[in-house]
Amino acid sequence: MQRLALRWRRAGLRVGFVPTMGSLHDGHLSLVRRARRAVGPQGKVVLSVYVNPTQFGPHEDFTKYPRNLARDVVRCRRAGVDVVFAPANSGMYPHPSGTGFSTYVVEERLSQRMEGASRPMHFRGVTTVVAKLFNIVQPAVAVFGAKDFQQAAVVRRMVRDLNFPVRVIVSPTVREADGLALSSRNQYLAGDLRRQAAVLSQAIGRARQAASSGGGRLRAAGLKRDLQAFIERQPDARVDYIEFFDPETLHPVREVRRGTHLALAVWVGTTRLIDNATLK
Ligand code: AMP
Repeated sequence: MQRLALRWRRAGLRVGFVPTMGSLHDGHLSLVRRARRAVGPQGKVVLSVYVNPTQFGPHEDFTKYPRNLARDVVRCRRAGVDVVFAPANSGMYPHPSGTGFSTYVVEERLSQRMEGASRPMHFRGVTTVVAKLFNIVQPAVAVFGAKDFQQAAVVRRMVRDLNFPVRVIVSPTVREADGLALSSRNQYLAGDLRRQAAVLSQAIGRARQAASSGGGRLRAAGLKRDLQAFIERQPDARVDYIEFFDPETLHPVREVRRGTHLALAVWVGTTRLIDNATLK
């Protein structure tokens, strides 16, 4: 992949890159379209499929994470992807516990709260694998989804701090008709859990309404309690975190106002779902 990317670079071809963990859905494909738009018809669009072990905690769903490379390749071909890069673990992390792999990339500020607090080491895995993928794929542009807002912010910071010559584009969240953000993990939601999962986007709608009707000052703590109770009215939904924060610094805010960002993580049965939005 790197040899091909360097050849493209010498030929003056721009690469648009979409990193994924596969099990592709329309959210991923919207990133492919965005990448194509960024590099043009002459450019190359690369999509990686790699379920990165270093971003999963020891008790998380790494082994059961849905994988379907054959179907992903068909979807990519139809969407106009030029290359699907699907490396093996042995290539990415040779002998990690022995003499092989021992260098990690750590962002130390934006990755502390929310996903970083709930999933220790998660962002270390993300920044490390994204740095590796950038070096392998040599993209001019990389497209990430707003669905993983904190991830996009952490990657953007890494790119700036470490001078990667990559433009990071964040593309909007694609949703189902009932508002549920598309996610490969939605496949875990059997029976009534799928219906209950709509509560994340409903909670965002409720927060937006409160923010727009609440006048100038609305206490974040009170709104959090209200949203938690609202979410947990669903029999199988349990809040992991709800956070109101400044979208630039990711610092939590005490008062919710226009432009405040909301992110939440909710267990629906044994599936952990995340969502976020700006409160307009
Ligand atoms: P994943 O395969 O879950 O690691 O996601 C790969 C990329 O797709 C990330 O940049 C995600 O933010 C993005 N993505 C996942 N779900 C969606 C969605 N519903 N809408 C837009 N982008 C998404």
